[in-house]
Amino acid sequence: MKQFKTESKKLLDLMINSIYTNKEIFLRELISNASDALDKLSFEAVQKPELGIDQSKLAITLAFDKDARTITVSDNGIGMTQEELDNDLGTIAHSGSEAFKEENADHQGEDIDIIGQFGVGFYSSFMVAQKVRVVSRALGADQAYAWESDGVKGYSIEPAGEGERADANDHGTDVILYLRDSTEDEDTDQFLSEWGLKDLVKRYSNYVRHPIQMMVTKSRQKPKPEDAGDDYKPEYEDYQELETLNSMTPIWKKRQSEVEQDDYDEFYKSSFHDWEKPLRTISFHAEGALSYDALLFIPGQRPFDLYSKDYQKGLALYTSNVLIQEKCADLLPDYYNFVRGVVDSPDVSLNISRETLQQNSQLRAIARRVEKKIHSELEDMRDNAREDYEKFWENFGRGIEFGIYSSYGAKADDLADLLLFWSAKEGKLVTFKEYAQAMPEDQDKIYYAAGDARERLEKTPAVRSALDHGYDVLLCTQDVDEFMFQMMRNYHQDAVAGDSEHKGTDARDLELTNVASADLDFATEDEKKEAEKVTAEHQDLFDELKEDLGDKVTSVKAVAGLGDAPATIAAEGPVSLEMERVISQGPEADQAPKAQRVLQLNAAHPVFGKLVAAMDAGDKDRLKLLGSVLYDQALLVEGLPLEDPVEFAQNVTKLM
Ligand code: ADP
Ligand code: MG
Repeated sequence: MKQFKTESKKLLDLMINSIYTNKEIFLRELISNASDALDKLSFEAVQKPELGIDQSKLAITLAFDKDARTITVSDNGIGMTQEELDNDLGTIAHSGSEAFKEENADHQGEDIDIIGQFGVGFYSSFMVAQKVRVVSRALGADQAYAWESDGVKGYSIEPAGEGERADANDHGTDVILYLRDSTEDEDTDQFLSEWGLKDLVKRYSNYVRHPIQMMVTKSRQKPKPEDAGDDYKPEYEDYQELETLNSMTPIWKKRQSEVEQDDYDEFYKSSFHDWEKPLRTISFHAEGALSYDALLFIPGQRPFDLYSKDYQKGLALYTSNVLIQEKCADLLPDYYNFVRGVVDSPDVSLNISRETLQQNSQLRAIARRVEKKIHSELEDMRDNAREDYEKFWENFGRGIEFGIYSSYGAKADDLADLLLFWSAKEGKLVTFKEYAQAMPEDQDKIYYAAGDARERLEKTPAVRSALDHGYDVLLCTQDVDEFMFQMMRNYHQDAVAGDSEHKGTDARDLELTNVASADLDFATEDEKKEAEKVTAEHQDLFDELKEDLGDKVTSVKAVAGLGDAPATIAAEGPVSLEMERVISQGPEADQAPKAQRVLQLNAAHPVFGKLVAAMDAGDKDRLKLLGSVLYDQALLVEGLPLEDPVEFAQNVTKLM
């Protein structure tokens, strides 16, 4: 009995004691080794035609025996000599695992997640097997050898038994796993079935380029006997057939022009568990220093868990047709986390470790191209298929806005033109660019209103006043909208050439401005003067109202341009009413900053006359009542909660 090298022992311990749930990857590892062995044989076949190797016979074969509890993975590849069995299976011969071992030396058993993410090779067999026997005959060797280990004590190498790869031409390897018994925590029985193995091959090794075959049981109708009567019922019989389980040609390697959209749709649905077909399919390829194939999809509907913390973004990462990661997060920026797809590159190492994955320059280069491709596809959809784009926006727009917000605006330049907002004037979704192009000449800001519902926003005095003055307003109803605007501050409008309808403009920054902010006033100069005059004349009235309302407002004043609304509430300073509302519904409600509220009165409204009359008559109670009702109803119009609804109802009753 030989001992494993110490570093191998550590890895083995990790494997055997693994509580990792994704044990099923063992098959992927064994198939990938078998596929490598076939590749090495192909290479020999090409180099030495005199060997007369028939490449068309190269295959990987799976078999299982329920009673003996074994799974056998065989290949007719290059095989291993006695020394190779000793060196390759007795040591960690490959660099990836070496790095893995170093990273995990201090916290064995903790970071087991890594097992599922990266190729850890042959040793993963010990996650499911109590004993592994490897019978191998190297190409041209005159003896086959058997390597055997229970993974704990060590391993032995002996000449192979009788009938095991006995023929001199029977080069290749059988890896026989003796599975552990199923327990409550660990179901190994699932692998001892045709269905179980087929499923693993489909999921993890579907695109291995060599055939993966298995004898499967099928059923067929027996031929109808000549003398069958009218009441003959068809009879069935089982038979065995060698079936190729994997598809072998990856759909992502093909050019988009060669593939029917239906095939993409099917591939998408079955691979990503969606029942609706994708909105867009993006396929691209690179050749040269860094070659890869990529196939991406923009889903047609939002996954139910997209906005939950359980949602995992990422693209499937293959290298040389072997899946190394089901969801490689580094390939997608967070704001495109909805994209599904596959990247396949022979230039990415199978044994890549988690750290190097992030630092891997190849992967970073691919990620950059992936991002660009998604971006241009979205632009294309925005410009040429607006209906699709609106659907896309409804499903995934919030994530893009969140991307601008969480990058503190750094991503704004890239993403701003993808945003859509409801235009109050046009009654449809528009981009910033479209908004800016339609602005009247004297407008140099982008106006928006933020709140919970479009229908309500449309009716607020601030929005109506803007519209009355000829300015469009973007009605924003996503909770993140205004927080994103705070990070963006401006929208950068590129220079526009003039035409018959519009005067051109130089490139400029358009400030994003809330129409409900107190320092905004759409009134004309004359109207403003009038309002200032009124405020000065009735200073005592405003002071009195302010005193009655107390902390609720920071000031009371007259403003022009409110139309037929008697009063409105605006916010001064950095926190808008909508932001206050959103924060107060979130987890940090207690510390929610308050908007500084200003009660703005419409001096042209008949109600203002009533206030003045009450003041003149010295009827302070009535003035207080009117002020309180005006304030509360302005809150209602803004969609804000009343501090004391009962008091409001009583006050209205008193007035009636
Ligand atoms: P890796 O595949 O990353 O090298 P593994 O632990 O999976 O690491 O395998 C270790 C080595 O054992 C391989 O590099 C190869 O030399 C040898 N080996 C494993 N399986 C086979 C096989 N079926 N045929 C030939 N050699 C094999
Ligand atoms: Mg391997």
